[in-house]
Amino acid sequence: MSKKSQSKKQERLDQLNYFGKNLVRRCSSQCELCEASSVSLHIYEVEPVPKEPVLEHCLMICDTCEQNLSSAKHMQVDHWRCLTKTMWSEVDAAKVLSLSLLKYLSEKNAWAQEALEAISYKL
Ligand SMILES: [Zn+2]
Repeated sequence: MSKKSQSKKQERLDQLNYFGKNLVRRCSSQCELCEASSVSLHIYEVEPVPKEPVLEHCLMICDTCEQNLSSAKHMQVDHWRCLTKTMWSEVDAAKVLSLSLLKYLSEKNAWAQEALEAISYKL
């Protein structure tokens, strides 16, 4: 990574950290995807990532969720069973991310497909 892109990345992190307090309050120290508590949480930006960081695009997530998001190849499918609950979240970013992951998972997993069907009745 070049020096320039590295400092850009740092700048983004600094901007995101402004949201830290709000996010901590919102998530009540639980992972906003799998509800893990007493774990370290990180700010994650949900795609499409806006040019300037926006609070509504951010989620507080745990290491396990972060790892599963970063590599589709090493995804632990069973970890994402939590999404059948998260997809009903009042936090839009959590909902949007859950639905897009479930859509991806539904190609091979009946439970994900069933979850999507359940929510489409309500939408
Ligand atoms: Zn998590």
